[in-house]
Amino acid sequence: MARILAVTNQKGGVGKTTTAVNLSACLATLGQRVLMIDLDPQGNATTGCGVVKRVALPTVYQILIGRSTLAEARVRTNFGFDILPANRELAGAEVELIEMGGREFRLRDALLPVLGDYDFVLMDCPPALNMLTVNGLVAAQAVMIPMQCEYYALEGLTDLVATLKKVRAHLNSTLEIEGLLRTLFDPRSTLTQQVSGELVEHFGDKVYRTIIPRNVRLAEAPSYGKPVIAFDRASKGAQAYMALAQEILDRRDGASGAAVAQGVDA
Ligand code: ATP
Ligand code: MG
Repeated sequence: MARILAVTNQKGGVGKTTTAVNLSACLATLGQRVLMIDLDPQGNATTGCGVVKRVALPTVYQILIGRSTLAEARVRTNFGFDILPANRELAGAEVELIEMGGREFRLRDALLPVLGDYDFVLMDCPPALNMLTVNGLVAAQAVMIPMQCEYYALEGLTDLVATLKKVRAHLNSTLEIEGLLRTLFDPRSTLTQQVSGELVEHFGDKVYRTIIPRNVRLAEAPSYGKPVIAFDRASKGAQAYMALAQEILDRRDGASGAAVAQGVDA
């Protein structure tokens, strides 16, 4: 059964898209079957993996308004994973969905028929708490929260945790936090070290051990339409996202190992 993760943080520019694209590529490199869903009308994740945002292309927009199926709209990237693309048209979905029944559940329902095709589904959410993000949070089993270790990050996190509580109470009772990811990390900054320490204190092992450093190759790769491992495999950024992919697989396998062990005990 696929593990469905929403990469989310309402704060802009914290590395959500960079994480969704690069983690998808790294998990695919490690042999996982991956679908990435671009839930942002900016379409950065779409162009970042070399898919051209043509207007005629069926996207997540057509899925949400029920005009296409996921099986029809998904596209194979050159990097071993599938993408459900987005373009600016998606901005209109917000308004159209208001009129529609079950509007929070549309993505979740659309995903069901293809879940058997994947080990991981990663959703790149927009930097806002809108109906697109809500569709992502309802479809997800867990959220992955990229964050920059700076002063306002912790404040933003409090808001996000409150939002997750609301979603759990009303729409998706089993939504969990998969993990918090320290991104754009600059170890020379004292503030960064301090915020990072507080994060670990509050969230314990929910904070991934892997840290994503600030690395110029990560910022350059999207303009070539490539994830960083296809652009500069030896870069610090590529190595960090490979380590993150491995950490996620180890956690998953550790968790299923524990479940098996519990089963034996029972
Ligand atoms: P938005 O909220 O607008 O969707 P986002 O959270 O998806 O933004 P990204 O687009 O991934 O953030 O990153 C913001 C900018 O920072 C981009 O220009 C990206 O290339 C750059 N960037 C992201 N992570 C890193 C990193 N680890 N090192 C260097 N640059 C990075
Ligand atoms: Mg983004």
